Amino acid sequence: MSATTPPANEKPAPRPMLSVREALDTLLAAARPVDGIEQVPTLEANGRVLAQDQASTIDVPSADNSSMDGYAVRALDCIDGAASLRVAQRIPAGSVGQPLEPGTAARIFTGAMIPPGADAVVMQEQCEAHGDMVTVRHAPRLGEWIRRAGEDIGRGATILAAGTRLRSQELGLAASSGLASLPVRRRLRVAVFFTGDELTMPGEAPGGQLAPGAIYNSNRFTLRGLLENFGCAISDYGIVPDSLEATRGALREAARGHDLIITSGGVSVGEEDHIKPAVEAVGRLDMWQIAVKPGKPLAFGEVRKDASAGSAFFMGLPGNPVSSFITFLLFVRPFLLRLQGVSGPLEPRAWAMRADFSLPKGDRRNEFLRARINAGGGLDLFPNQGSGVLTSTVWGDGLIDNPPGRAINEGDTVRFIPFTELQH
Ligand code: AMP
Ligand code: MG
Repeated sequence: MSATTPPANEKPAPRPMLSVREALDTLLAAARPVDGIEQVPTLEANGRVLAQDQASTIDVPSADNSSMDGYAVRALDCIDGAASLRVAQRIPAGSVGQPLEPGTAARIFTGAMIPPGADAVVMQEQCEAHGDMVTVRHAPRLGEWIRRAGEDIGRGATILAAGTRLRSQELGLAASSGLASLPVRRRLRVAVFFTGDELTMPGEAPGGQLAPGAIYNSNRFTLRGLLENFGCAISDYGIVPDSLEATRGALREAARGHDLIITSGGVSVGEEDHIKPAVEAVGRLDMWQIAVKPGKPLAFGEVRKDASAGSAFFMGLPGNPVSSFITFLLFVRPFLLRLQGVSGPLEPRAWAMRADFSLPKGDRRNEFLRARINAGGGLDLFPNQGSGVLTSTVWGDGLIDNPPGRAINEGDTVRFIPFTELQH
């Protein structure tokens, strides 16, 4: 018998907790971008994910043009710094001038095309106009105040790569190179529901009074807001009672026509936690214990669609409001981005910052502490880090990613991830 085989009467060791990294790796290995590309007007493409590389249809700028109001000249005519030239033409933006005769100047405005023959622009502040003549009190260098054709973008150059989430800047760039519409991935279809007999919707408590033992369904607001930020098409099935039957029914319905089902609550192993048996009845499920605080339990699996052969992904978040919020930011966010077709690194950007507090004893799990940037450029810690204390998420600017077992002393450098980095 080998030394590593346990005696037959010993209980099996509890499964070790997954690290955040291990959980992420498993999730991302399962995520494939959704099929389905649609062509949408560039004006309506904000927040969508580009499906194919885009090349410019033109040189930007499309022709040499002036970057100043002034006079287009031949630099050779102006070398003495006091040239007197006849103003033979006027070229506002949008019109095309005539070839510039030697010894003449063209009145020109910002954005107007440089006429053939001119090789510099002298800004109007360095010129004196009198009648149809101008005195040019500056000897320009060749090309002065001229924006060259193709200086920003050459025709045919790739301006946006597939897998880019389109923000206003990307839309402006696409429009500047003549792209009236863009191929984007179809929106991710996400179904959500919230388990718990204690849940009540704000405004719906009987008689306006929250019943004893009841709580408001805050996760519905947090999770829907997050999904909206990520441009998902959301189907919200509301509150589902704590029963196997109801949970299974909600799952079947939610699998239809959706890519992903997200739930909150019911992922612990209490008698009232029905997510595990319900998902197992209609699909496949892994119950994870992740070495993360808050947010230890997370369920990941798939629910079969009844008609077709396919299935919808399933992610069961913990019920505690801060846990479900943070679990979304850490695990659902990167998974969603991959399903949406976002390419490139998914890690949120983090900053090394100074802790202006101490945490005498680090948790044995990887803790994500709600903290706020103070006026001195350091971080303050929210005093109550409880997994039900939503105030911490409103007060805080982001999360300190604190490794397992690490105590923090005032002045230490910690890893800070702003909430803004986690919501796109
Ligand atoms: P559970 O994961 O179902 O055991 O729930 C853990 C804790 O989170 C309990 O205190 C629940 O009352 C609370 N909770 C569950 N679902 C929600 C929700 N949708 N909104 C706010 N709190 C919730
Ligand atoms: Mg519950």
